[in-house]
Amino acid sequence: MDNEIKIMPDFEGPEDFSTLSLNENVLRAVTEKGYKKPSPVQAIAIPHILEGRDIIGASQTGTGKTAAFALPILSLLKRHGALRCLVLEPTRELAQQVEGAFNAYGKQQDLRTTLLHGGVGYGQQCDKLRDGTDIVVATPGRLLDHLGRGTLTLDKVSFLVLDEADRMLDMGFMPDIRRIIARCTNKQRQSMLFSATLVQEIENVASWVLRNPFRITVGGGTSTAETVTHALYPVDERQKFDLLVSILSKIDYRSVIIFCRTKNGADIIARWLENTNHKTAILHSDRSQKERDQAMEGFKSGKVEILVATDIVSRGIDIMEVSHVINYDIPQHCEDYVHRIGRTGRMNNEGDAVTLFTASDQDFLKKIEKFIDQKIERKKIEDFDYKWTPILEEEKPQPKRRNRGYSSALSMNMGRRRR
Ligand code: AMP
Repeated sequence: MDNEIKIMPDFEGPEDFSTLSLNENVLRAVTEKGYKKPSPVQAIAIPHILEGRDIIGASQTGTGKTAAFALPILSLLKRHGALRCLVLEPTRELAQQVEGAFNAYGKQQDLRTTLLHGGVGYGQQCDKLRDGTDIVVATPGRLLDHLGRGTLTLDKVSFLVLDEADRMLDMGFMPDIRRIIARCTNKQRQSMLFSATLVQEIENVASWVLRNPFRITVGGGTSTAETVTHALYPVDERQKFDLLVSILSKIDYRSVIIFCRTKNGADIIARWLENTNHKTAILHSDRSQKERDQAMEGFKSGKVEILVATDIVSRGIDIMEVSHVINYDIPQHCEDYVHRIGRTGRMNNEGDAVTLFTASDQDFLKKIEKFIDQKIERKKIEDFDYKWTPILEEEKPQPKRRNRGYSSALSMNMGRRRR
């Protein structure tokens, strides 16, 4: 039996879901969702999971990977019983999203899904566990709390999914994950690991979690969506925010995510944008769960057009209508560039990715361009009043810095922008 497939852009999969051996209830739910043709990762993963294979998937975000594992698992679970499926996610938002997908795809079946994450009380979670659940979608910390409290056991788990494994690694969850997996004692377990990139540490995790896995790689793992156009806007640090406002006035955006490096930075940029009459929502890990939910809901529903966020949103979050991603701060890890811009251009929608770029970002930029194997086009806003050379020409000396602009505001912990 083959052990590996690399899905290339010219991949021709089946024309509809009916040939994939999913059960009728799942097929009905898929039709109700309006999906016609399986995405490439679905076309490959679904039959292998139905056959009982472990899977390791290197899949770019927005490729339909949630359905690639949820549909066959639901098909195999059939009807209500014990807790048999555990899905681990790195963030609360992703866990909510994946729980929503299980509910939608499992709608026609008598199966129950429970969402477990921090930032909310235990009461409802314990009630749902007590009433009996088939599927748990959880973040690692809260799941361990429940295990500690004895409110659930994992000994009957026969499907284990580690989703966004590289993100869980980055967030330091691997020791927790090892402890959780040690509690999944069912020898018949089928396991799946999905990760945007398969770095060595992820391979190491895979080698102790998975048995003879089938390996699926979509588009090489480091590629950016082909439907996204990238542009780089060099600017002096002191004019970054003004340039952002100018870009926002020029682009025809419907919904835009602005990525900042720090939580404090995201708060400041959001406040400044509000001061310039842009309605914004903020999402980062220091916001309360209620605030996070409200921000996502407002943005997804279109009530708020601008979401200012840290990299907590960069992985996996599924918002189909994101028309633009703006990197206010260039990402410091190359993978995050791919993830951030993966928020736009999802499932072949057109999207634009804009990156603001200052002199001190040059090293990061070089690494990013090498990683994506692509030179990003440098652009200038024609009628923007550049006070300092934006093109980072070496021969033009940079002026002495004064305490103005975003970075100085951060260091001074200023709440308001000075003009
Ligand atoms: P994911 O990569 O799992 O986050 O999915 C990205 C988006 O694609 C989600 O909004 C899904 O609802 C959507 N999607 C998944 N599979 C299909 C499909 N076969 N056809 C159309 N849309 C899909």
